[in-house]
Amino acid sequence: MKQKTYTRCLECNTVNEDSDYCKNCGALINIVLKRRLESEAMEERRVALENKIKEESKVLKFFENGLTHPFFIIRLFFKTLHYIWLFLSMVLGGLIASILAAAAG
Ligand SMILES: [Zn+2]
Repeated sequence: MKQKTYTRCLECNTVNEDSDYCKNCGALINIVLKRRLESEAMEERRVALENKIKEESKVLKFFENGLTHPFFIIRLFFKTLHYIWLFLSMVLGGLIASILAAAAG
């Protein structure tokens, strides 16, 4: 016969029987599972951040080349693009941050 485990919920102090989640408030009470989910979430955030940095440095290089182009018209074109990019990356950055914040709870 399997032994029952009782876990007290840290959020609402309800004692739960053989459960990973609190039956009262739905909080995750299995510490092992919680740690694993936390480290998975952290790894996901790290990879997302790494990709974002990689992507941004690629774009920066692209603009650097364009902004120092010998033709004025090309430089102007890149300058405009650069402003558009700065604006978009601000909007996207805010969006990504809010998604990550929501995912992290
Ligand atoms: Zn609870």
